[in-house]
Amino acid sequence: MNELTNIGTVKDLLNRYGFTFSKSLGQNFIINPSICPRIAEMGGAAKGTGIIEIGTGFGVLTRELAARADKVEAVEIDSRLMPVLAETLSGFDNVEVINADVMKTDLRQIIDTRFAGLTVNICANLPYYITSPIIMYLLESRLPVNYITVMVQKEAGERLCAPMGSRECGAVTAAVRYYSEPQRLFSVSRGSFMPAPNVDSCVIRLAVRDKPAVSVKDEKFFFRVVRGAFSQRRKNLANSLSSALGMDKGTIAEVIRGSGLSENVRPEQLTLEELAAVADALSDV
Ligand code: SAM
Repeated sequence: MNELTNIGTVKDLLNRYGFTFSKSLGQNFIINPSICPRIAEMGGAAKGTGIIEIGTGFGVLTRELAARADKVEAVEIDSRLMPVLAETLSGFDNVEVINADVMKTDLRQIIDTRFAGLTVNICANLPYYITSPIIMYLLESRLPVNYITVMVQKEAGERLCAPMGSRECGAVTAAVRYYSEPQRLFSVSRGSFMPAPNVDSCVIRLAVRDKPAVSVKDEKFFFRVVRGAFSQRRKNLANSLSSALGMDKGTIAEVIRGSGLSENVRPEQLTLEELAAVADALSDV
């Protein structure tokens, strides 16, 4: 069993290293022994794979990943954890810990230089203060990875995996679907962490697409339209886009009708294909 899920072991590490959890870095470490093996297995940590982990904490998930994959590259921002990890990961010669902010780390270069010949997957128990930015950074970097399997706050997971056309759908839902096929894997209660956060969590897996779900004329403009469409949730599409893009409402309504939609359609009713059609038509105006 992974001894880092043993509260006595964790308390001993806290005492010996004088470590205190940082709320601002989202430090809630997993102490439920059943979670990390499931993330590692469902996240594709196996022979022939290289895994990027984001945020090691004391290394509880890192150890499960290292026990299954050929290689693990783990990015952790908190330098206070480096001496702890030197101890907790000392039994593994296939793990490298990179003390850096993942948002400023060139993951493509890590993949190219350290994971040659391996299938690459990303696994993490993400810090909740920065969940969506990290996921978008990973997807927009177009990394050559198969799966991104991450623990996120329950509500964030519901939004990220919401079907298009549902009420939970937002700009991030559309962006995630553009790059990947999301799937909610399982729930995790708040009591599975130390310290316990005041929200529940879930693990989701994004199967990264070889090419985007829809093809658009101008990707940058498509994402401006997506963000604009969902920027004012109570407004209809024409009103939201008119204020977000600074374009005449009548012109936008005409484009929406020309795309075969009602001009009163609400953004959360649209499919990805419809959003792409509206964006393409608007880019010609
Ligand atoms: N993997 C461990 C576990 O499951 O117990 C820790 C998970 S904890 C929710 C999130 C971890 O991400 C913390 O160790 C935190 O220091 C780290 N972290 C926070 N922001 C980060 C960033 N921008 N880049 C890399 N690591 C970060």
